[in-house]
Order: sequence, then structure tokens, then C-alpha cells
Amino acid sequence: MLIIPSAIPVEIELECGNCGYKQPFGNPPYICEKCGHDWMEARYDYERISRLWPDILKQRPFTMWRYRELLPIRNDKYQITMGEGGTALLRANNLSMMLGAQNLFIKDERQNPTNSFKDRQAALAISMLKEAGITELVVASTGNVAISYSAYSTHAGIKLWTFLPSLVPPEKMREIAIYGSEVIKVTATYDETKKVAARYAKHKGITVDRGIRDIGTRESMKTLAFEVAEQLAAELGPPQPGIPWRTPDWFIQAVSGGMGPIGFFKGYEELYRMGLVDRLPKLALIQAAGCAPMVQSFHKDLPKAEPVENPNTRVITIATGAPGPAYEYLYKVVKQHGGTFESATDEETFRALHILAKMEGLSIEPAAATAFAGLFKLLTKGIIKRHEVVVINCSGHTFPVEKFLLDEDWLKVVPASVAETAPPPMAHAKESPPSRLMGALEKLDERVRRIAIVEDNPEAARLLRRILQTRGDFQIVEAHTGKEGLTLIENTQPDLVLLDLMMPDMDGFAVIDHLKNNPRLKDTPVIVITAKELTAQEKRRLQGQIQILLQKGSFMDDELLHGINALLENDKGEE
Ligand SMILES: *Cc1c(COP(=O)(O)O)cnc(C)c1O
Ligand SMILES: [Zn+2]
Repeated sequence: MLIIPSAIPVEIELECGNCGYKQPFGNPPYICEKCGHDWMEARYDYERISRLWPDILKQRPFTMWRYRELLPIRNDKYQITMGEGGTALLRANNLSMMLGAQNLFIKDERQNPTNSFKDRQAALAISMLKEAGITELVVASTGNVAISYSAYSTHAGIKLWTFLPSLVPPEKMREIAIYGSEVIKVTATYDETKKVAARYAKHKGITVDRGIRDIGTRESMKTLAFEVAEQLAAELGPPQPGIPWRTPDWFIQAVSGGMGPIGFFKGYEELYRMGLVDRLPKLALIQAAGCAPMVQSFHKDLPKAEPVENPNTRVITIATGAPGPAYEYLYKVVKQHGGTFESATDEETFRALHILAKMEGLSIEPAAATAFAGLFKLLTKGIIKRHEVVVINCSGHTFPVEKFLLDEDWLKVVPASVAETAPPPMAHAKESPPSRLMGALEKLDERVRRIAIVEDNPEAARLLRRILQTRGDFQIVEAHTGKEGLTLIENTQPDLVLLDLMMPDMDGFAVIDHLKNNPRLKDTPVIVITAKELTAQEKRRLQGQIQILLQKGSFMDDELLHGINALLENDKGEE
């Protein structure tokens, strides 16, 4: 059974974010009875829960409801769950090697029932609406909330009216429709769409989702923090004696409404208060450059956001021009606890999307890729240090990949006329020509250029191989010592050599000397990829002998590929 009942009677208070007034936890909308403010924080019996948790958590499954005592529903019978949460925390091995970072972790929120972290929000918010007796709801969304709410509403008997800006991909709109929700496409920005939805709700007397102002949305995202704290402790060990769980140095997310990071931070504040972790994380909040009100406002040091009227980005999921109270909250958190706001262009985002798919096997949506593009920039700028523990919210919904993300030639077509041709009858056996089908299939694999990798570290060799494989048109040969490498180069005569410097038996310098003394091999272009800081003398030694020098852990895949392609082109021209 997925329902996890509370181990203690539910006692929750609401505290006003403006005046601090405390009132009992009642029904929505949650408004301060004293000052009318609409941002209320749920407070729990932390002391009692911290005493209970060590024992009860041992017996509970790894889903978001394992933290039931810190989630605000009164009666367990209203819990709606589809097994959300409890997603894997993946170590980003290839990415770490490429970037020279040691502790990159991906919280794979695609593993939720509708493939985005909005399922945490939907599970709790829809449960709370069910408990409050609500049967119809209006929601404005850039896609993922509408999909998630639609799925969960099926279990709550709630009719959903979804309002979406017209740029939301049609695949997402169709998914919302298939769950039986009403789909209303508004030819406007997301901010305007929200207003249309609110007006409609008011006119019809239907409850409208209040987004970040709703307690359930923020509270649900705390479970991301709880899970990460437990998972990091399992991966890296507890931070110190007596402190069981672990805090990352950074939590990175692409933000629009700010629900994820705000909930995540509150989750860590609660764990800290309960003595389960020893510190709070820094937040890195990434926005699309064409719609980055938070980033721009932070750089101007404004405590309230200046909205962006006309978002200009293809990353629709996070195209929120007016971030409202979320920004004010995040501004304070970043000011007090460190952290940063950063933007990424669409181009940087799509590049990151390809890297994640090709290097880590994760097909993610553009909004999730924006977080990774931000990570790359913050590492390059030195704002995130290479040894720091980083958790990235990989909250993507992998829907059918949109066309513009791929090159023209991503699809290889074998014509039916060829595919249907039967192999030639025995009469032709003399020549035994390959069938036309095989001929056509052969053509699919035109790997004419040969590249030799000479690298003694198998992990580094694998990464280089992977980078070359993703482009498909190189034949790769590989050796793991200098001597083997030299033999391999002599035997296979590659078009280009990727060479490590520090290797047992014969180092890279010696390999280069041998190549230069061999008339057949002396013109083979060499790219040196080294982890070693070169001395001035070593640099002189390489001068004129090699074409490109790259430092391990500080180049991206396409820099290497550009270098390779430029050298191969060059080489062609000379022939
Ligand atoms: C909702 C969403 C975001 C933005 O989340 P907020 O925390 O509300 O700013 C980012 N990426 C994806 C994939 C999302 O679905
Ligand atoms: Zn108040």
C-alpha cells in the first residue's frame, strides 16, 4: 500500500509571512486572519517529529510520503499518490569528468509518474483540495503542471480547466486532453494567460490554483530536500558524528515560479532545525536569457522583480515574465545564505540538452537543460568550485523531441524498394553480391575518418570515445600505453591522434618524438589532452609538434569536435 499514515496526530499551525501571526491550519484559501497577507507558512511539531523519525523512517518505502509528518493534510484518507518522489540521485560521471568537477549529482525527477517534479506538487495539492471538498479547479500552466494536475485529478474526482499559452507544444496539450481535462489555448504570454484563467475562475465561481501562494505547492517541494539529504548521506557518508544527513553545497534549478527552490530551501531549514543536517544549501537559480526577470532584478539589486513583458525564448516551460513573491523570497535567501542567479541563452540550453542525452543517457526537456547550461557557466566562472557537492534538479518531461532540436539529417531512410527486394537467388551465387538492402545499410555507416586515442586512464578514454561516437562518422582505435599507442598508430595510420602525456612505459612526449621521426607519420595531426600543468620547458617541447593542447576537465565536447573537424578539413585541403 502506498498510503503512509501519520505516526502522530496532525498538529499544524500557519504562520503569517508578513506579520508572524499564528493561526490553526484550516481550509483554503490560506490568508492571515490578522493582516490579510496571502503567504502563510506551515509549522509542525519539529521536536517530536525529530525524535520519531529515526525509527519510523527505517520502515517506510522511499516515496515522498515517507515524510508524511511534515506534509500538511489532516486526514490520511485524502492522500492521493501514484508513487511520486523517491527518484534516483544519479552521479553524473561523464559530465563530471568533462567538467573536472568531482561531485555532480542529478536528481532525476523524470522518474515521476508524469515525468516531471510537478507530480510532487500535484500529489499534495490535489490531496489538499480533495480534503477541502473541492471538485472543480482552474489552473494556468506552461504545460507540466497541467499535465500533472490532470493525471492526479483523475483520482480525486476533480474537473480541471487548464489554460495554456499558445506556445506550449501541441504534444503537451494533447497529453492534457487525453486525461479528460479541458484545454484552453490562450494566444498570449503565460502571465496574461494566468490573468485570463483567474478571470474565468472568478466568473464561474470555480477555485483557481494559487501557485506559489498555495501552501501545498511549496510544502510538497520540501520532499526533494529530504530525499536529497538522505541520498547524499548514503553516497558520501554523514557530514560529522551525530549529524545523520547531508547538505549539498549547491542546489541548481531552472526557475520560473520558484516553487522548487523555495520548497527545497524550506525543507533544509526544517532539517536543520531538527538537527538532521549541519547547514543550509546555496541556491543557483537559472533562467532563460530571453525571459530572466529574476536574474536581471538581482543584478540590479532590486528586492522586488521588474517583470519582463515580452518573453523571447523557446524554453516555454520557464517563460514566466512576472515572478511575483517568489523572487522576493529567493532574493532574501540568496542575500542571506549565498547563492546566485544566472541566465542561459537558448543556444546554450540546447547544447546542454544534447550533452545530457549523449553523455549521461538522459533525454530531458529544454527547461531542465537550462539548469545544466547554468551549471556549465557557473563552473567556468568559478562561482561553483570544482570540488563542491552540486545537486541539479533534472525536472524534465521527456515528451516527443521537438523537431527544431535535431539537425536535418538525424533520420536515416532506407527506401522501401530496396528493403523489400529479396536476396538474389542462387543463380547469382558466383558473384555473391551483397543484397541491395545490405548495400543500402552499408551506406548508413560511412565512417571514413580514423582517430586514434592513446590514453592510459580507461575512464578518460571512454569519455573521449563517447564524445566521438555521438557524431557517428569516426572510426575509433584505442591504445592504453605509449608503446601500444605507437604500434597502433604505425599499423592503422589514423587521420588524427588524441594523445595523453602522462603514461607508463612511454610518455606522450616520447610518442611525439617517434612520430616526428617517421616520414610516414610525421604529418599526422596530434591533439594533446593532459591533466598535467605543463612547465614552460614542456610547452616549448610541444611547440610546432602538436596542433591543439587541451586541459582535462576544462573543455566541452564541442570544443574538441570543432578542433578535430578543423584539423581534418585542413588536412583534406592539402591533399
Ligand atoms: C516547473 C518547471 C520548472 C520551474 O519550476 P519552479 O520551481 O516553479 O520555478 C523548471 N523546469 C521544469 C521542467 C518544470 O516543469
Ligand atoms: Zn499577517
